[in-house]
Amino acid sequence: MAKVGFIGLGNMGLPMAQNLLKADFAITGFDLNAQATEKLAASGGRGANSLADACKDAEVVITMLPAGEQVREVYLGDGGVLAAVAFGTLLIDSSTIDVKTARDVAQAAQGQAFAMVDAPVSGGVAGAEAATLTFMVGGDDDAFERARPLLEKMGKTIVHAGGPGNGQAAKICNNMILGASMIVVSEAFLLAEKLGLDAQKLFDISSKSSGQCWSMTSYCPVPGLVPTSPANRDYKAGFTAAMMLKDLKLAQAAARATHATTPLGAGAAAVYERFVESGDGSVDFSGIIRYLRGA
Ligand code: NAD
Repeated sequence: MAKVGFIGLGNMGLPMAQNLLKADFAITGFDLNAQATEKLAASGGRGANSLADACKDAEVVITMLPAGEQVREVYLGDGGVLAAVAFGTLLIDSSTIDVKTARDVAQAAQGQAFAMVDAPVSGGVAGAEAATLTFMVGGDDDAFERARPLLEKMGKTIVHAGGPGNGQAAKICNNMILGASMIVVSEAFLLAEKLGLDAQKLFDISSKSSGQCWSMTSYCPVPGLVPTSPANRDYKAGFTAAMMLKDLKLAQAAARATHATTPLGAGAAAVYERFVESGDGSVDFSGIIRYLRGA
């Protein structure tokens, strides 16, 4: 099995790397946080003491980092991935970042003849642990086919979205739908309450009619209606409001850069910004209903 350097072993990266270990890949992991690196070593991987150490013998490097700034630094910085890996190494960035950084880094990789894909995910920490993530992949056909066997060990649905950066484009468009739909589902339940319509009745009707969507049927913001909802455990994340705000801001930056018209996306970003500023950034994003109730 291929030797993999895994950089960024946080909430998502560690369980993803652990799933590759279970599939018999040899993983050398590195995180700025030494405790995260130690957790990988305790799971049967090798803990690297530097970025270069994680890249040294790697045939594939996977990164799972907070944002574009770290991805740019890790790949393009002094002693970064592009300087440290051997010729022929496949590069996979699964972080959620802005499309421009994804395309800049892919172009730099391509300039040095490295195959690279951007492969952001949806499915959250639960999906990372259960290896059921959805990967949205941007890159050329050869790079995608090389990445696919690894992605299949960490996820269930692997979609080739097009050329470099298109994985990130898919991710931010998807999450713009999700953020806006979670707000409007919450608004509908709050309006129903004011109108004397029972939440269960609205759910029974809307979940089977034209208002149905994932925010209603799989992640309903009202407690007691959908067993898997974070609403049932006081909105413990899950996918935090801060993460949703990050993705909505990425969507707005992309909309500005391309002159796309996204009034609902802009509204959703503004609503989540106020929710996060109120101190609830670590609450699950479906907790927006609490904010709307009080607002
Ligand atoms: P996290 O903050 O838990 O993990 C990121 C890790 O990267 C941290 O352990 C940090 O120490 C490490 N890191 C930062 N800079 C580094 C560097 N220069 N070198 C080595 N390590 C470095 O974040 P996460 O929740 O694991 O999310 C990772 C990415 O996945 C983000 O881009 C996020 O938007 C995306 N994502 C997260 C979720 C989720 O539910 N958590 C869902 C989908 C996508």
